[in-house]
Amino acid sequence: MAKRICPRCGQPYNWLEVHKRASNNYVYAVHVVATKPKRKVVKHYLGPLERYIYVNKMHPRENLGLTGMINEDRAIMYLEALIEYFNRVLEEGRGVADREKIRRVRRLVEELLMEVELLDA
Ligand SMILES: [Zn+2]
Repeated sequence: MAKRICPRCGQPYNWLEVHKRASNNYVYAVHVVATKPKRKVVKHYLGPLERYIYVNKMHPRENLGLTGMINEDRAIMYLEALIEYFNRVLEEGRGVADREKIRRVRRLVEELLMEVELLDA
């Protein structure tokens, strides 16, 4: 989060706060919206510092490792986790019904790769 831009509202934030709770550590982007007569701040919740504990328990097989908005790499992490999940499914001889869906996703990934190659050219 190098630019210090809040992923919730798109505005710069002044600092991050981590609120430690028994259940997890939660991150907030703090925006100072007024300094006079008194400092006034608005806090935007960005999710857990690391992983959602309860939410991830709801996806034990996929093992997505769902994280808060503070993690800018989370989309690619989810994609990698899903690929690993489907590899396990296929190795276990399951996923017969998923094969055509996997082929469709392959086409989408190939199109995405073409975009990446164009941007890198
Ligand atoms: Zn914000």
